[in-house]
This record gives sequence, C-alpha cells and structure tokens, in this order.
Amino acid sequence: MSRNASASSRRSVSASVVLRDVLAGGPVARSTIARRTGLSPSAVTGHITELAAFGLVRELDEATRTHRVGRPHVPVDIDTAQHVVAGIHVAVPHTTVALLDLRGRVLLAERLPHHAREPLAVLERAADRLLAMLEAHAPERSPVGLGVATGGWVDQASGVIVEHPVLGWRDVAARDLLAGRTGLAVEVDGHSRALIHAERLFGVTRESVLQLFVGNVVDAAFATAGTVQHGPRSAAGAVAHLPVEGSAEPCSCGRAGCLQATVSEHTLARRALAGGILDQPSFPALLALAEQGSPAAVALFRERARVIGRAAVPLVDLLNPDALIVVEPGISRVPGCLAALRAELAARSWVCDDPEHSVLPTSFPRTVLASAAGAVLLTEFYQDPLRLLTRRLRRTS
Ligand SMILES: [Zn+2]
Repeated sequence: MSRNASASSRRSVSASVVLRDVLAGGPVARSTIARRTGLSPSAVTGHITELAAFGLVRELDEATRTHRVGRPHVPVDIDTAQHVVAGIHVAVPHTTVALLDLRGRVLLAERLPHHAREPLAVLERAADRLLAMLEAHAPERSPVGLGVATGGWVDQASGVIVEHPVLGWRDVAARDLLAGRTGLAVEVDGHSRALIHAERLFGVTRESVLQLFVGNVVDAAFATAGTVQHGPRSAAGAVAHLPVEGSAEPCSCGRAGCLQATVSEHTLARRALAGGILDQPSFPALLALAEQGSPAAVALFRERARVIGRAAVPLVDLLNPDALIVVEPGISRVPGCLAALRAELAARSWVCDDPEHSVLPTSFPRTVLASAAGAVLLTEFYQDPLRLLTRRLRRTS
C-alpha cells in the first residue's frame, strides 16, 4: 500500500469510529465524541464535515446551520433521511423484502410466500420486488446496498449459501446473483450472525453474546470483543442436530430427537394440529392463539422454551457469555416463556447465576427477519462507511 493510500485508509477508519460513536450516543456534541474516541477536536470536526457531506450525519440545531461548521457543542446525529438499506431474508415458507434506515429501523417490509423453492426463482423475484419498493417508497433516498440473510450454512466471504437443508439449497451464489440483478453492493450472511451484529449496533451491547435462533431452522452464533466467530467456511453455529433428551422426533438427518426437529415451527404446528388446538398446521395461527392466552397453545410454547433452555445449557457453560439472546417468538411475546427459559438456565447451568440479567429475548421481536437482513449490510457499512459509499459512487459514475 502506498503512503497516500495508507493515510487515506487510516482517515477512513477514524471516520468510521466517529460515525459509530454518533450511532451509539447520538445526538451527541463533538466535544463528547472527541473525549470518548480519543481523537482531537479538530480531527472530529473534520470527520463530521466529511460524514455530513455524504449525508450520513446532520447537525440537530437547524437555526445554526448557516454558521460555520465546527462549533463543538451543537449536537450531531445520524442522518436517517438520506439513505436506505435494502434487505432480503429467505425463510422456509417465505422471503421477506425490506427497506431500513441507517439506525436499522425497518421502514417497510413485505413477505413473499414461496410458490416455488428453486433458488433462482426465489432470489430473482425478491430482487425485482425490492427494486419496485425502492422506486415506489424511497425514490429520494440513496441506497447504500443490499443485505441478504438466511438460516443454515452461509459463507459470508464468498457470498454463497453453502447449504440450507430445509429448503434443499446447496452452493447458491446469492451475492453474485443479486448484485447482477439489482446493481447494488450485496453482502450475504447467516441470520444468527447478522442478528448478533444488529444487537451490537442497535440493541444489547455486551462484551460477549451467544445467540440462538429458533424458527423452522435452528442455529446459533457467538461473538466476543466485537468479533463474530465464523470458523472455516463460516460453518460455526450448526446446533440443529444437538440431541434433546427424551425427544423421539424423527429428523431429516436420519436420527431422532435432534433439537431442530424437536422445536421447529413445523413440528410445533403439527403437534398443535394433532392435539386439536388448530384445524390446520399453521405456526402463525398457533402463535396468535398463544398471544391471546389459549392455555393449550401457551403450554406448547412454554415447553418449547424449556427445551431451548436445556439445549442452551452446555453451550452457555462452554462459552460463559455475558448474554444469551434467544430469538424465538414465544419468548418475546407469549407470557411465561422467558421465565421458563431462565428457570432452565438457573437450574442447570454451572456458570449462569443471573439469568434475569443475562438471558434475554431479541431486541427486534416484530421485525426479526427484516432486521437480520438489513444488519448484514449495516455491519459492513459501519465498519467503513466511506469505502462502501465511494465504491458505490464509482460504480454508478
Ligand atoms: Zn438431526
């Protein structure tokens, strides 16, 4: 790297430090940013001016905008009105297509049910819907890029969905396909890792976090000191086939009693049908019943929470995280489920002595899939915002 390139790269890195400080503490005065980041006041002012020129931050006091930039006590905040982040999350029954702002707030989300599950058909339909949404709902905003999240095994570095066994997908080059279709900068990652990033940026900030995602797919992610564990080919977090004591649920892997087979949405809906709680095997209908307080539906979700808690114990004991976050709608929305989960950890874990403080629901209970997708891109963005934006400008010029 040449001396100039190296200096420019250092400047870009400290600009991202300033932007992340505004994200965490905004609205915040420049003098406070300087104190918290250790950068000089003039360096902070320089970065704020540059970030404002890109439409990433703004001064809050409209009346003073005509004066020179750089007064240390005028608060600055993330400018959420200039840009938009696109997201695509691929679940088993549907794909979610979403638009988010730079604070990770979901502006708009739509679900596209899967009529066909072929990867090309699913991804192209999502891309086309996304482009239509951008044109109809955010024509005045500049798109930063597209984040793509899904369950199963995703290789972030190559942008490939290596294996999604429930959908039957293998080696799907999602990043290249979607970049070609949309013209946007595209990042792809597993939804559990994406949601850990989302927590770090917009939700729970702890030194180390273990996260379990329980839907039709069950997987996990672990982060410590701001780094999410990927391992070779990003295969970390494959907990779908952990054995569950006392479960005889047949699994697609050929064994019985695996965690995913025992607690998946599909299994829960089927059990509700068999138990006469529902007349169709619909997970959303079961969740709605539980939220309305139907005792039989609530009992199914509490049992699910207990099974998740028991499965989490060895993982928590191994990793001893500051927080265990469980992404599961019953734990976020059905009375008694979070307490049931915490009780399992309290009773069985050797290291978890304060579950009220360390065992938590997701910070994004109503937007979890859209939030995951957006976070894939936003994580890259907050690492080095100017690199992402200038890459985009070079492409479009
Ligand atoms: Zn299995």
